[in-house]
Amino acid sequence: MKLKDEINKRRTFGIVSHPDAGKTTLTEKLLLFGGAIQEAGAVKSNKVKKGATSDFMEIERQRGISVATSVLAFEYKDIKINILDTPGHKDFAEDTFRTLTAVDSVIVVIDVAKGVEEQTEKLVEVCRMRNIPMIVFINKLDREGKDAFDLLDEIEQKLNLTVTPLSYPIGMGYDFKGIYNIWEQNVNLFTGDPRKDIEDTVEISDLNTPELDELIGSDSANDLREELELAQGVYPKFDQQAYKEGRLQPVFFGSALNNFGVRELLDCFISIAPAPLPKESEERTVKPTEEKFTGFVFKIHANMDPKHRDRLAFVKIVSGKFERNVPYLHVRHNKKLRFSSPNAFFAEKKEIVDVSYPGDIVGLHDTGNFKIGDTLTEGEEIHYRGIPNFSPEHFRYINNADPMKSKQLEKGIDQLMDEGVAQLFRLELNNRKIIGTVGALQYEVIQYRLEHEYGAKCTYENLNVHKACWIEPEDEKSDGFQDFKRVKAKFLAKDKRGQLVFLADSQFSLQMTQQKYKTIKFHFTSEF
Ligand code: GDP
Repeated sequence: MKLKDEINKRRTFGIVSHPDAGKTTLTEKLLLFGGAIQEAGAVKSNKVKKGATSDFMEIERQRGISVATSVLAFEYKDIKINILDTPGHKDFAEDTFRTLTAVDSVIVVIDVAKGVEEQTEKLVEVCRMRNIPMIVFINKLDREGKDAFDLLDEIEQKLNLTVTPLSYPIGMGYDFKGIYNIWEQNVNLFTGDPRKDIEDTVEISDLNTPELDELIGSDSANDLREELELAQGVYPKFDQQAYKEGRLQPVFFGSALNNFGVRELLDCFISIAPAPLPKESEERTVKPTEEKFTGFVFKIHANMDPKHRDRLAFVKIVSGKFERNVPYLHVRHNKKLRFSSPNAFFAEKKEIVDVSYPGDIVGLHDTGNFKIGDTLTEGEEIHYRGIPNFSPEHFRYINNADPMKSKQLEKGIDQLMDEGVAQLFRLELNNRKIIGTVGALQYEVIQYRLEHEYGAKCTYENLNVHKACWIEPEDEKSDGFQDFKRVKAKFLAKDKRGQLVFLADSQFSLQMTQQKYKTIKFHFTSEF
């Protein structure tokens, strides 16, 4: 098959949601359609259990699952679908943000009763900033929830999206009768039986047909007619281009648990969602159809077995084809590397592959060469952008608790930071190391892994930091900047790349500093 055909048959996407909205359940049903798994329960939830913060077994379990579910691939109607896993737990939000740099589109799952929740807001904001095409799936229609119009309103308000329903619920909870599929113009009746024949839909191209009254009763039929007419007046017509540019978000309703509305979602998805897209690099835009291979690392996973120090670097293929045993340029190190056993991912397993195409993810065994954001090419100097660090939420000094093992500690911290577990800062004043994380859970993960994988022990010390800002002076030599460096010396640090960072101890002091030093830019992500 030609490269172009391989590209056109691929769809790489992520499912984002607030924990418990039904992401795992939906993933599992999607895999069932691909025949990739035979039974329910095969997809492991990557959820961190409540109160698990001090449970190391839970952390390990979590890590294990996150390898297993990192990429789930399956074929459906000749389309190769790659689902990239995105942890919903907020302590792993950074991991999710990075994964979003490797998807071409997103499905957002929302619980019909809970509506838009906190994590959904954050994740959708990131997708919106990058104009990632999004489809919304409103889940759990078998339960009592919010009115469809109210929910669509809420989504527009809170998520700042422009929605248009492509399916519409007929009743909900006890009265849930099914959905009218606006996209396909048919009615899908709900029996509450997950084994129900999924092709069991009734074509209704004309809503005024008396057949509709027979199917769902006159009251429901009239309600549906009214609501659809209203919806048509309120919401824009679906427009694929607008969806692809992130300006319009189609909405589906269903119940993942009952495998209801999922087939409709999937069929629409494969027909409208974008195939692998061009990607910006610092140098130029790279098209997937270019003959030469390029790709970038968006995730690194340490081996679960501490005896084997190797890690798995997840590479998204952007252009050309990636082949086993062919030497590729590791741009940051300026050296050629070849990979004898690249892994491709299928439903629940990984396998060695000879060739992979744009949109695919390969897992490369790595002994410490890779860092998140690294680019591989056939020789061209390309640096892919778009994997910024955000200001951490928590900051602590990290101290060596075993002076005999300082080398091990150094190496361990280094590698864990490369994996993107947390961010390291060094205080300018005294070179002390500070670890910044998104969630408190990360400190325990780091402490545990340093001990078990590197034989090093650490302790933490609290540090009062409100936010880290990356500093960009208009002029390095200006008096203002020199003054800033002198006055704020106690609060300045360098990040891993050597960029200057201001650690503000409160919102107030941040504002005061910003006001005082007008020629300095304070950035809230490392990429500017
Ligand atoms: P995740 O945290 O987003 O991955 O959510 P899960 O897929 O683990 O689902 C959370 C809970 O909601 C589980 O108990 C599911 O069985 C349940 N659930 C998922 N989909 C539905 C649905 O359509 N209807 C109902 N009633 N429950 C559902």
